[in-house]
Amino acid sequence: AFKAYLHSCKAGVKHLINDILGIHHITSIASDPIKNNHFFTEVLGLRRVKKTVNFDNPSVYHLYFADPKGTPGTVLTYFPFPSRSRGARGIGEVAQARFAVLPGRLDFWEDRLAQYGVSDLLRVDRFATATLEFTGPDGESLAICETNGASLPPADGHIPAQEALRGFHSAEFCVDASSEVGDLLTFMGFVTQTREGETQRFERPSIGPASIIDVHYKAGGEKAQENAGSVHHIAFAVKDDEAQQRVRQALIAYGCQVTGVKDRSYFKAIYFRTQDGILFEVATNPPGFATDEPLETMGERLCLPEQHKSLRDRLERQLIPL
Ligand code: ZN
Repeated sequence: AFKAYLHSCKAGVKHLINDILGIHHITSIASDPIKNNHFFTEVLGLRRVKKTVNFDNPSVYHLYFADPKGTPGTVLTYFPFPSRSRGARGIGEVAQARFAVLPGRLDFWEDRLAQYGVSDLLRVDRFATATLEFTGPDGESLAICETNGASLPPADGHIPAQEALRGFHSAEFCVDASSEVGDLLTFMGFVTQTREGETQRFERPSIGPASIIDVHYKAGGEKAQENAGSVHHIAFAVKDDEAQQRVRQALIAYGCQVTGVKDRSYFKAIYFRTQDGILFEVATNPPGFATDEPLETMGERLCLPEQHKSLRDRLERQLIPL
């Protein structure tokens, strides 16, 4: 059956991937790790669920901010490079990461962010959803959306659960008007929803939160410049290794140049770039973040994967203490 599936993909028959469970995590680039860490923990109230290094470049932190359990769909991660200059928003990137809150909570967040000196606060309606857009410490474009709370992950951080960020609501891509990323998302199981101006909404139906991608088609304009404040990649969730293999084979049959499976300790990952240049990852939900340290204290101490354990002394001297 699997061979027949592959064959039909090559023959151009659209066998949709049915294994994607929405957004797993979004990874971005920061400059100062202290400012980055302060903003996402203190100001936004996320929990730092892991302090590790970039496995491909261990002299750089990899910080994971999420709900208290590190639930997939709530995880925003950063590579902070202290001396990086700012990137520029433009065509060919994930342009905005959006968090969910319960209905009626945007006043709380507008007040809170203003108190912390956050710039560019803007209240807008996007697809009939009350939205607060703002700019993070490295110029990253972020937003909070009021959402029906029924299926949102729980919260028990230092911001009361009624007000707290409850994982991702969605992400917005910015692409050229000729982009075929909508076909790719459709192949990955996303369903076309309504359109608002130049922006087309896609959603993975019936899987709960963190399942929306908005694609902003822009005719003309500058290409995005990737640097501090830019999203580095977006990861989509699958339930296990077998699902990841199914997705990998289907994407290869579709024509994507997909990497082999990389062990990221807290999930397994495969990567490929869209024609627009956006880096996509497909990550397994297991094993999660409480694998190399207890749930209660995870995120406090520097965790290193096996291949970088010998670097601990040097890294603890070189990395800016957090
Ligand atoms: Zn990733």
